[in-house]
This record gives sequence, structure tokens and C-alpha cells, in this order.
Amino acid sequence: MSVPPWRATVLTLYPEMFPGPLGTSLAGRALQDGTWAIEARDIRASATSRHRNVDDTPAGGGPGMVMRADIVAAAIDAALTPDDTRPRLLMSPRGRPLQQSRVRALAEEQGVIVVCGRFEGVDERVIAGRGLEEVSIGDYVLSGGELGAMVLIDAVVRLLPGVMGASASGEEESFEGGLLEYPHYTRPREWEGQSIPEILLSGDHQAIARWRRAEAERITRERRPDLLAARR
Ligand code: SAH
Repeated sequence: MSVPPWRATVLTLYPEMFPGPLGTSLAGRALQDGTWAIEARDIRASATSRHRNVDDTPAGGGPGMVMRADIVAAAIDAALTPDDTRPRLLMSPRGRPLQQSRVRALAEEQGVIVVCGRFEGVDERVIAGRGLEEVSIGDYVLSGGELGAMVLIDAVVRLLPGVMGASASGEEESFEGGLLEYPHYTRPREWEGQSIPEILLSGDHQAIARWRRAEAERITRERRPDLLAARR
């Protein structure tokens, strides 16, 4: 019996952006073989006015435009089936920063619904009204949620069974166990006067594991002490 695909529904003003880069390489192959599926839906299709406006000026004044609550909600409602239990996400710089632990949990779901903002963002009322979880991909501002949605979907898809083989489920990748990954080396053995650390060529698997662990801790201490603090 085949497993149903992990299903991403993306609500956007630019559905033609999808699958975009998600259609190539690992994610693209998994998309073709039915491990996951993506449906990009045009929010503008839910607009009712003659000119199909989806945004309007902010209440209280100020710059920019805001996506209307009624239209975003109608787009969400049109995308849902009554038994849809997938998490509903809103890409937003105000959201909780995306972490590998959340990515892992999303890979266990049946899929996600992702709303992509544009302009100044969406009317606040639709967030509570449709139970949207705000997710940020980092402390910087994008011009729209689409690239953020792609980042999130890419991170999830590589964890789906069969997509990456053993390596993505390994305990040793960056952020697994709260550490950054140890350094990698491959051929040639000597390159521009730099050699591969001797221990990696020793064949002593325990010593190699200890060295990698120590390197992971050193690199994490130097670059991301916040990760070490969070482990305690
Ligand atoms: N005025 C908003 C920024 C709007 S940017 C503010 O100051 O918070 C337009 C859209 O891009 C947002 O609605 C969101 O969907 C997306 N976006 C921008 N930065 C993002 C980030 N860091 N993470 C996730 N989505 C982001």
C-alpha cells in the first residue's frame, strides 16, 4: 500500500513561483515520485471586486497596503476540505523563528497550508480568525512570503522518508542535538598545502567519533554559544 503524499498548499498572489526551485534536485525528484505534492493557489481568485483587489490602505493611516482579512480568509476556506487537519502557517517576520525541531514536527504532519504575505502583511484579524501560526525564517524582511514558504517546504521535504536516504535522519547534522556539524573533508588528501586531519585517515572509528564530537562542540562554542546555552 502506498503512503499518501505530504501535501503543501500555498496561498499566494504569485502561484507561478511554485514549485520553482523545489522542482529540481532532491525535492524535485521526490515531487515527481509522489513523496510529496504541492498546490499553489492564487489568493486573487478569491477577490470579489471588479478589479480583483486583494489589498487596501491601512486603518489608522501610514505607508503601504494591507491584505484584506475577508479575501485571505476566503482563499483559506476555499483550499480546505472539512477533514483537513494540516497546520496553517503564515509566513511573517513577527513569527517564531523556524527551527529544525519544528521542521521535523511538520514532516510528521500530513502536510501544511502556508499563507504568503505581500505588501505590509495581512489584516491581523485573519490570523486569529483562521488559527494561523506565524513562522519567520529569520530576522530580516523579505518582500513576500513565497521564498520563506519555499525555505520551509525544502527543509521539511528532505526529511520525508526516502528523500535523502540515511543522512538526513542522522543524529550528527547541524542543529540535531543542539550542535553545529563537524567539518568535512574528501579527496585530494593534500590540497594547496593543506592536508586532511590525520585522525580521519587512521581508520579508528571511535577516535574519529570523539574528534568529530569535539570539533562540533568547538565550532558551536565559537559561532553559536546560544545553541550551547539552550542545551543546558
Ligand atoms: N511590514 C511587515 C513586513 C512585510 S514583508 C513587518 O514589518 O513586519 C511582506 C511579507 O513578506 C510578509 O507578510 C511575510 O509574508 C513575508 N516575510 C517577510 N519577511 C519574512 C521573514 N523574515 N520570514 C517569513 N516571512 C517573511
